[in-house]
Amino acid sequence: MAHRLLRPSALRSGRHASRGQHNAHSQTSLLHSVVRAYSTAVPAASEPWDVVIVGGGIVGAALACGLGASPLTRNKRIALVESSDLSKVQAWAPVPQSYSSRTVSITPGSYQLLKQYGVWDHIELSRTQTYTNMAVWDAVGQGQVHFGTQDLGLSQEQPMAWIMENLNLHRAALRTLADACPGVTLFDPTKVESIQRPALDLAQTEPGPMMDWPRVKLSTGQTLMTRLLIGADGARSPVRQFAKIDAAGWSYPQHGIVGILKATAQTAPQSDWVWQRFLPTGPVALLPLPGEHMALVWSMDSRFAAYLKQLPDEAFTIALNAAIHLPVEHLEFVLQQLQATNGQLDPVLLDDLMHRAKLIGASGSGGISPPLIAGVEPQSRASFPFRLQHADRYVDQRLVLIGDAAHTIHPLAGQGLNLGLADVASLVPTLEQAVATGQDLGDYNGLLGYASARYAPNLAMLGSVDKLQKLFSTGWGPVATVRSLGLNIVNHIPRLKRELVKTAML
Ligand SMILES: Cc1cc2nc3c(=O)[nH]c(=O)nc-3n(C[C@H](O)[C@H](O)[C@H](O)COP(=O)(O)OP(=O)(O)OC[C@H]3O[C@@H](n4cnc5c(N)ncnc54)[C@H](O)[C@@H]3O)c2cc1C
Repeated sequence: MAHRLLRPSALRSGRHASRGQHNAHSQTSLLHSVVRAYSTAVPAASEPWDVVIVGGGIVGAALACGLGASPLTRNKRIALVESSDLSKVQAWAPVPQSYSSRTVSITPGSYQLLKQYGVWDHIELSRTQTYTNMAVWDAVGQGQVHFGTQDLGLSQEQPMAWIMENLNLHRAALRTLADACPGVTLFDPTKVESIQRPALDLAQTEPGPMMDWPRVKLSTGQTLMTRLLIGADGARSPVRQFAKIDAAGWSYPQHGIVGILKATAQTAPQSDWVWQRFLPTGPVALLPLPGEHMALVWSMDSRFAAYLKQLPDEAFTIALNAAIHLPVEHLEFVLQQLQATNGQLDPVLLDDLMHRAKLIGASGSGGISPPLIAGVEPQSRASFPFRLQHADRYVDQRLVLIGDAAHTIHPLAGQGLNLGLADVASLVPTLEQAVATGQDLGDYNGLLGYASARYAPNLAMLGSVDKLQKLFSTGWGPVATVRSLGLNIVNHIPRLKRELVKTAML
């Protein structure tokens, strides 16, 4: 189903769709048409398209915003195809004092891009939280680092990053498309079923006109023929598979539990800090949200994650406080007790543990004073598998990969989406350049500029985060000692610290 994204003014004035193309809509689709009117200007699906973006996640939607707003590309025919129902994202109505558990940390580099495309104007800022300090410490040994904006030579007010709900950002990108990108046509909920390229299928050495253009077959039965096909379709990328581009990588034996937390009133004022403790089982990170709320990302062994996910809220809060505050031996004891009692701790023991956690929280663990967690928001816990994956190449004739389709990274450094947005920041000017110089948008040589700009930085970030993950996933004495020493050295060498933070903030 194609929707030409219209400006809200057009929607308000009641401009409606050509019914002819869409007479087979379900009840739900008709409901959508109230929100997103159809335009008679939608090109017929069999007509050639300049760009088809598969995947309307945040990266694909941001790319559509960039191309849809650029004076050089906005007159091109651009299709954005998404298998899920984006009207749910568009209709997202946040509930005060309640947060959705998928959150993201947006670096200043991504912020600049979102500002440039006008996406930032649609973000609900009251639901975002900046941070200016980050504490990282080792549960085994005494290693710790504190990063602050001063380490970057920034003023106290300039944030290191913004934490927000994925939905807030995704909705903002879709609103930008509706508001300012009339050249973009959205197909949703529409799945790409298959992709073909007649020239390749027929093994023609000299393809005729448009014979080498990818044909994208949709679940609606339509086929889009495109000059350039962009895969923004996530880690399992059908576009990457169609292009037979291999992706090397592995699954970590870890899952991440996410959730929304509330800090105790005493610790809430430290709302501009990120806290990350490296446990031998994986890192646990607390990311600030407005007020006393925080987002949790806790990585651990997959079986243990499944166990913790189903614990009652109170027992989970105890385990989490122990993971943040207590020495590793005490944490192990707490977890054993929880398992032995099926999450029903003896109240006396519970009091004792909370008392210890409070004591350590109040006095600070080696100068670091993370918040004490008062509770976890009901139903907010979810878990995700983690993967590292990197495509062998990002471009092919008439084809580009961006975002998680090109690279997937462990979230411990909060970089996956930021890398995807950096891909967008590089691909848009590459395509603008092609238009400005009269080249074919799908020309392989023109696309190489994007690949060479992004491949090495993405690979470097994937490698660094993987090394960090491995370095910290052990409690083995000698490694832990050297690791703690390393953290303390970094903490005392401002130049080294600055370089580390700068790399993570780009
Ligand atoms: C727990 C966790 C915490 C994270 N925290 C951070 C963070 O703080 N900072 C950060 O930068 N990153 C973070 N990330 C990573 C970040 O979420 C991802 O890198 C990012 O969402 C990838 O976006 P994407 O648009 O490339 O892919 P996706 O979000 O996977 O979107 C791909 C889209 O393609 C669509 N699609 C797939 N197949 C088809 C098809 N056949 N037809 C049509 N559509 C299709 C899918 O429906 C989907 O909407 C985190 C990840 C996790 C798991």
